[in-house]
Amino acid sequence: ESNLKNQEKNITEEGEKEITVELRSEYRNLKLDSLKEIEKNLIRQKLYQIIEINLQAIVRKNNEASTSADDAVLYMSLIGAVTILITFSFILNFPGYIANPIRELTESIKEISKKNYSQRVHFKSNDEFGELASAFNKMAKKLDDYENSNLAQIIFQKKRIETIINRMHDPIIGLDENKNILFVNGAAIVILGILENEVIGKYAPDVALHNDLLRVLLNEIEDVKPLKIFAENKESYFIKETLRIFAEDKLIGQVIVLKNVTQFKELDAAKTNFIATISHELKTPIASIKMGLKLLEDNRVGTLNEEQKKLIDNIKEDSQRLLKITGELLDLTQVETGNIQLHYKPTSPKEVVDYAFQAMKFQAEQKNVSIIIEIENNLPNLNIDLEKTAWVMVNFISNAIRYSPENNKINIEVKRDSNNVVFSVKDYGKGIDIKYKNKIFDKFFKVPNGYSSSGTGLGLAISKDFIESQQGKIWVESEPDKGSEFKFSLQVL
Ligand code: ADP
Repeated sequence: ESNLKNQEKNITEEGEKEITVELRSEYRNLKLDSLKEIEKNLIRQKLYQIIEINLQAIVRKNNEASTSADDAVLYMSLIGAVTILITFSFILNFPGYIANPIRELTESIKEISKKNYSQRVHFKSNDEFGELASAFNKMAKKLDDYENSNLAQIIFQKKRIETIINRMHDPIIGLDENKNILFVNGAAIVILGILENEVIGKYAPDVALHNDLLRVLLNEIEDVKPLKIFAENKESYFIKETLRIFAEDKLIGQVIVLKNVTQFKELDAAKTNFIATISHELKTPIASIKMGLKLLEDNRVGTLNEEQKKLIDNIKEDSQRLLKITGELLDLTQVETGNIQLHYKPTSPKEVVDYAFQAMKFQAEQKNVSIIIEIENNLPNLNIDLEKTAWVMVNFISNAIRYSPENNKINIEVKRDSNNVVFSVKDYGKGIDIKYKNKIFDKFFKVPNGYSSSGTGLGLAISKDFIESQQGKIWVESEPDKGSEFKFSLQVL
């Protein structure tokens, strides 16, 4: 019953329904009489028929399915082949489509980095590459405009600076860090006697081989003395100044400037002449004042009372000082005009010391200052001007006495130091502050608040000239409140 019900629900094939209805009627008959053999056979027959119909359906459907599968394989193969073809062409063409514009763009960027701002890219498509090309071209144009406007400005500024340098009266020479000549202004061209286009870009020491003045200018040693240069039919004086130019601690070049000091030199010469004339003219009246004083002291003229004697002593002292000052001024003018006459002769160092000691003995005794002299044995003779050298020694001793307290001592020492003989005068006075160590050798310099009001500030300046004109050296070693030691050295020949 249950199987028959299932069959009735599952009728799918043609003729199956009729057989199932017949089966149901046979089955009903069988239920009424279960012993009816004929019914059973009929039922069996109907069941076989149903099985047969369904088996035939299975075979048919199987065949249909196989045919469909074969068709499907064919279609799939076709689609696969077409897909492979499309993919293959894509693989071949797509990289070029992406890479070509990128390659062109890379080349253009390289050109821009080489400052070739006229570079442009030409992508014709309307996609992202097209947009990229137009953005790139806009950027390149802006850079081009900027470069051109900047260049014009830089050229203008360069021209302006060149004009300023050229118009300057002081000769100026510019070198790069490798000493190649960058520029020479008009004034430099005139005094060097060169042609601008022949030297620009040249290695300066090479040019200096044929130009004596340039050789002097390239000399690294700073010369404090003005250079005498004959140019444009006249003699001029210049002071060389070398400016080293640094950028971020790196030397990028140097500028040699020659300051024209001819005018100052002329004024200085006028001043020296004036001083020389005045001091010379003063000597005669001072000498007659001294003569007058001497006559006044003579009893034959009349006796003087104590008060008058004191006044005369004061006038004597003052005229002595005046004479010393005029003498020093005359010496100075001699040095300055280069008229200093040196009389070289072989002289023993002891002679110099004795000469100075004799001159200063009286002054030392007056202040009760003892002078202790130590001269090394067997010192060689020196080829020097005795008077000028002794003058320096006198000046040292006179200062030592002046700047020492009373009842003190002074040490004079003469020693050999390799190829030199060193003379020294040591006192135990006030000493000199380190900041004035070199200044005291300048003309008219006196240590501020020093206890010298009577001095002229010329003695050491003249001493320096006297010693240096004999190729010697002069210096001071001093400690405030302990004393000073003035020294000079002269070469043994
Ligand atoms: P001045 O005629 O003034 O002594 P100098 O040229 O001889 O001229 O000396 C210059 C200055 O150096 C002096 O004014 C003084 O201030 C200082 N000076 C020179 N010698 C000594 C010394 N022995 N001790 C201290 N100061 C000195």
